[in-house]
Amino acid sequence: MPYNYQHIVILGAAESGIGAAILAVSKGFSVLVSEGKRLSDETRGFLSSENIPFEENGHSLDKILAATLVVKSPGIPSDIPLIKAILDHGIPVISEIEFARPFSRGKTICITGSNGKTTTTLWIYHILRKAGMDVALAGNIGTSYAKQVAQNDADWFVLELSSFQLDDMHEFKADIAVMTNISPDHLDRYNYQMERYIAAKFRILQNMDEGCFFVYNADDEALVNAMNQSSTRAILAPFSMSKPLEFGAFIQNENLVINIKTTTTMSIHELALKGKHNAQNALAAGIAARLLEIRPELVRESLTDFENVEHRLEFVAKVNGVEFINDSKATNINAAWYALESMDKPTVWIVGGVDKGNDYSELLALVKAKVKAIVCLGVDNHKIVDAFSTEVSQIVETRSAKDAVEAAFRLADNGSTVLLSPACASFDLFSNYEDRGTQFKKAVRNL
Ligand code: ADP
Repeated sequence: MPYNYQHIVILGAAESGIGAAILAVSKGFSVLVSEGKRLSDETRGFLSSENIPFEENGHSLDKILAATLVVKSPGIPSDIPLIKAILDHGIPVISEIEFARPFSRGKTICITGSNGKTTTTLWIYHILRKAGMDVALAGNIGTSYAKQVAQNDADWFVLELSSFQLDDMHEFKADIAVMTNISPDHLDRYNYQMERYIAAKFRILQNMDEGCFFVYNADDEALVNAMNQSSTRAILAPFSMSKPLEFGAFIQNENLVINIKTTTTMSIHELALKGKHNAQNALAAGIAARLLEIRPELVRESLTDFENVEHRLEFVAKVNGVEFINDSKATNINAAWYALESMDKPTVWIVGGVDKGNDYSELLALVKAKVKAIVCLGVDNHKIVDAFSTEVSQIVETRSAKDAVEAAFRLADNGSTVLLSPACASFDLFSNYEDRGTQFKKAVRNL
């Protein structure tokens, strides 16, 4: 048994918490699941039917302090009084991924970074599956890692890891880690300190040794600076959009070149996903695949036939010559930057929502070059209006996907593009980014 803890309290009863509970119970631990909000009927029914003790609508401190180990959901901030009290009592707090790792026979490929995690994770998973490997997908995506370890362990796990998950990882060792890029995001959870956010991301490197590989974006200045300040024994496998690399992958003369063990080459025009950011994701995925010695032809084929992920620069429809694109997942400036950068027609840009500390000046040049009108979709749009009113003459404010789509359609001419790429979280008007994207698509189809 990897742990000598007896009583485990699991904070948060969403996907990761329930997974951790299933695994903990299956390994014979005594468990309490504690949820601050009301449980869904489904979750309550499940916990009851499995005889897993739980509480909801609040956390009871006395019950929680009886734990010998706490497994915390990544959605719960680390600096709230409850977590401070737990730590003051000397009770370790770890993430579900950290908890589950020692119970799995499999190795891990862990993808982190500010943007491109989901796309790169799914792309790597796609290649490994096509290669016939025993591989599973987990982390911030789909079924929790802990539940799969309990019920359906695999030789390889492709794990998407957010900085929140990494915050509570201490002993975990990634066999292959991929860092896509680093740009400001979630600064609200890191005291608005970029260094703290970067430090959380770099926790991925802790415990990695000379048998491990670190795949990273060598063009990303913040990332490379942070690397220069930390040390790792892992073997470095960088990727670049311009610099030829002896061990790594790069773009040269419109070809994607992967130099890992042998050279794999293909035209960037064959890549399944368009845009520079997706070429970077393809470079990262290609390196990971070649590190696992997947045949070059299969790597090429899988980089070509991968299918786009919903809500990420997703083409919706063309209505009266106006193209609509759903990039609802762009919840920060950097993602919106890449979306705008990839626009090749005059663009009506739908932007706004919950601002996580955005600096819109980074988008000014692109907006000036590409955007003919802005439709704000948010409760408080003043930062957007202030930032762009000198560059864009038409700015309107809306508070529903339907109004935003109708306003954008009125402002768009034949031959232009309407792009939803909000640069903000969605919680002011929608339940999540999927809801925002889905309502957008519905409104487009109703035009
Ligand atoms: P994440 O899981 O890190 O949020 P996604 O793959 O879901 O990343 O993509 C989020 C947003 O970022 C989308 O708008 C997408 O178009 C954009 N994006 C995808 N890959 C990259 C990248 N490598 N660099 C910058 N933006 C990206």
